[in-house]
Amino acid sequence: MQYRFTTRFGGVSQAPYESLNLAFHVGDNPECVKKNRELLQEELGISKLVFMEQVHGDKVVLIQNGHEEPTCDAMITQRSDTALAVMVADCIPILFYDAVHQAIGVAHAGRVGSLLHVGQKCALAMREHFGIKMSELRIFMGPSIHACCYEVGKEAIAGFEKYMHLQDDKYFLDLQSYNVDAFITIGVKPEHIEISQECSCGDENYFSYRRDKVTGRFVGVIAL
Ligand SMILES: [Zn+2]
Repeated sequence: MQYRFTTRFGGVSQAPYESLNLAFHVGDNPECVKKNRELLQEELGISKLVFMEQVHGDKVVLIQNGHEEPTCDAMITQRSDTALAVMVADCIPILFYDAVHQAIGVAHAGRVGSLLHVGQKCALAMREHFGIKMSELRIFMGPSIHACCYEVGKEAIAGFEKYMHLQDDKYFLDLQSYNVDAFITIGVKPEHIEISQECSCGDENYFSYRRDKVTGRFVGVIAL
């Protein structure tokens, strides 16, 4: 198994997408995005690399031939020749791995997707399709916006009450802890959840929608 979270470096895109932008939908030159995806695939040394058309929903798709580009926010597979990628610029890229059943998954968890439990649904789909046990599942949460930078309006509090940090009358959301607790609720072991402490908004190594608005997307990617 191999997985990684890319940074914004090592690609061919020009400002404001410099340089390893992996998303077509953000206004970058498609030829550059294509080249960047090829560079990533070469680095992974894998024959298929699957991306999603992400819509901040909770749909999970089973990847069966490695040529799909589904509209969804989570994917799972047991194919050994196929890497799964999730694009982000502040949302949490969540990667899933079960060593016993040799199965992987990815989920795109922003504020909306988290409220819809997209991460839990991805884990549960792995159980349904591959027979994995929650107690054996490993989860990797990549660089994403942390409470230090994630100020939200009062209208965004509902459902996240326990995960709000109040400072100077402003609310800051700890979306990572919300997702960790959601995974523990369904039986994932806390020691099997790794959380990157890197904040995409505060760290210029990553693309950040909150910081830059017009910008690229980095990815979390995993393969067997
Ligand atoms: Zn921050």
